[in-house]
Amino acid sequence: NFRLAPRFDNAAQSALLRPNPKLAHALANSKAKGLPPISVVPLSGQYLSILAGIMGAKSVLEIGTLGGYSTICFAEAGAKVTSIEIDPRHRDVALENVDGLDVEILLGAALEVLPKLAEEGRQFDMVFIDADFDDQWEHFDWAVKLTRPKGCVFLDDVVVSMLKNGQTGEGGSDSILTKVGKDDRVMATLVSTAATHPMIPTPAMNGFIMAMVKDH
Ligand code: SAM
Repeated sequence: NFRLAPRFDNAAQSALLRPNPKLAHALANSKAKGLPPISVVPLSGQYLSILAGIMGAKSVLEIGTLGGYSTICFAEAGAKVTSIEIDPRHRDVALENVDGLDVEILLGAALEVLPKLAEEGRQFDMVFIDADFDDQWEHFDWAVKLTRPKGCVFLDDVVVSMLKNGQTGEGGSDSILTKVGKDDRVMATLVSTAATHPMIPTPAMNGFIMAMVKDH
């Protein structure tokens, strides 16, 4: 019944999405400036806002800013957002889009920026990982170090990245699922979604890992 996914997606969008001028402006401005259309879909953005709200998150670290769509979702939920972006053109558009919100955007490759945040002793209530697929495990590893006990690490596009690596779900010792599963610092789950993604034909399965960091 994945074939029905787009219909339910559309129905949910019409029924549940809250109008949001800041997000609408961010999408329009990002499109006008030529950014790729790969921000989280609106219902997922709303999910991130709800999650941050439920957690009472005051600080969110994001890996992969693009035009700041998800950044706005976290900031409007009441968190100060620290977002890492490798591409200066994306960073510039994001700065325009998040104007007036409590957001800092750090320019650089995440694997260079994350150790500096750790050195500074920074801790976040939540880390949202939405950057390149190749470094997913390394990003996750740093994210856990930078998350307070009982905080949450959210790793997007897990199924898409595994499919891209030729991993079809039969296991594999080096899959991101296996690595996270062996990580005693967290309790994690895969939340599967039937959403659209530019890299896979729709309707298809995607999913994100949600991990709670244990006391450390
Ligand atoms: N979170 C954004 C949203 O929902 O609006 C979408 C992020 S987009 C899927 C991925 C972004 O990560 C791109 O802007 C890309 O330039 C950036 N990126 C890719 N690899 C990166 C890396 N190693 N370090 C930092 N940013 C990276």
